[in-house]
Amino acid sequence: MYETKNTHKISALNVTKIRNDFPVLNQEVYGKALIYFDNAATTQKPRVVIDIINKLYSEHNSNVHRGVHYLSEQITKMYESARKKVQDYLNARYNHEIIFTSGATDSINIVAYSFGEAYVKKNDEIIISEMEHHSNIVPWQMMCKRKGAKLKVISINNKGELLLDEYKKIINSRTKLVAIVHVSNSLGTINPVKEIVAIAHKNNIPVLIDGAQAIQHGSIDVQDIDCDFYVFSGHKIYGPTGVGVLYGKERWLQEMPPYQGGGDMIERVRFERTTYDELPFKFEAGTPNYIGVIGVGAALDYLTGIGLDNIKNYEKKLLDYGTAKLTALNELKLYGTAENKTCIFSFLLNNIHPYDVGMLLDKMSIAVRTGHHCTQPLWEHYKIEGSIRASLAFYNTLEEIDSLYEALKKIQKMFK
Ligand code: PMP
Repeated sequence: MYETKNTHKISALNVTKIRNDFPVLNQEVYGKALIYFDNAATTQKPRVVIDIINKLYSEHNSNVHRGVHYLSEQITKMYESARKKVQDYLNARYNHEIIFTSGATDSINIVAYSFGEAYVKKNDEIIISEMEHHSNIVPWQMMCKRKGAKLKVISINNKGELLLDEYKKIINSRTKLVAIVHVSNSLGTINPVKEIVAIAHKNNIPVLIDGAQAIQHGSIDVQDIDCDFYVFSGHKIYGPTGVGVLYGKERWLQEMPPYQGGGDMIERVRFERTTYDELPFKFEAGTPNYIGVIGVGAALDYLTGIGLDNIKNYEKKLLDYGTAKLTALNELKLYGTAENKTCIFSFLLNNIHPYDVGMLLDKMSIAVRTGHHCTQPLWEHYKIEGSIRASLAFYNTLEEIDSLYEALKKIQKMFK
């Protein structure tokens, strides 16, 4: 279906063909072709995902796991087959290590609550980093407050890389869990998660990886990383909103208590005592977003059809080209210059307020995000309030980067 040969050429990915798969991209905004550079906030959906959602509601809708009738059995099969697709995508050892949630935020909250209940006591410590999304800060703060535990934070250098020596120093016998972002949504930094996990495991400490910005840029192997938990959202990986994944090693998920009670997560309910179902259902109380889950499965099929290496190689070209172009602009300050990063460009232009730049880019049909990007503590490190963020995906083009460059030059002139 897709030309996946010759990964050294941009045409290996056939961007024109790919762009036709995404109806949203094929429109004009203020009379000019839309340039969508807000992919870290959410990605656009290929037609196969949109079509399957339509088809499921039109032809197959029925609740999962509950009926003996045809529709329910069919949709249950599709739901469980999506679980297998996620298992394969992450290379998880067992199918029941994949829990469907409402998103990365939900997945982290489940672990923060459930792991906290099982293992965290007064004066214990949880390690996070300075570059975390609020979703990987606030749930831990809430858990620490509940349990009387403390939050420890690994700092970063000015390039936006974690200080691993500092991490090694703060890890100690009171540390109960390490929770780190795989790829920073504000800087694009790809963290050395395998090394981070190895250091924690030497001290018998489990690690949660927030993969919300990593999963869409290349293949992920949770057994190779050896992380204990890995989370992501469907909508950042070209799938539907309102659905996400929590991968957890069987050992932890078996021991941890359920987060929510309700239908589907029980074995037997009596007023005196309830026993819980096996994994993964123990953590999937209530009617799940089964249509969304199947949509995520379709998105994963779509990505693997294109080839994850092709995506990675092409996005690296976008990153290199974009970095060269943007840094050629006088008085553009780029934040996030790690050696290893994805194609996210966070920057300030002269001393123009990011909001003004964002508004003007919008009028030139370029969609970027401005503000703190849910990483307020990170911006404190740089002593700024936030940035203008252009986050690219494999359907973006070098020509679109040229347009951004020209638009920024125009804005600079306007403010002179
Ligand atoms: N972590 C990171 C790094 C993110 O970028 C995001 C979304 N911006 C989240 C967590 C939370 O994802 P969601 O809002 O889909 O739950």
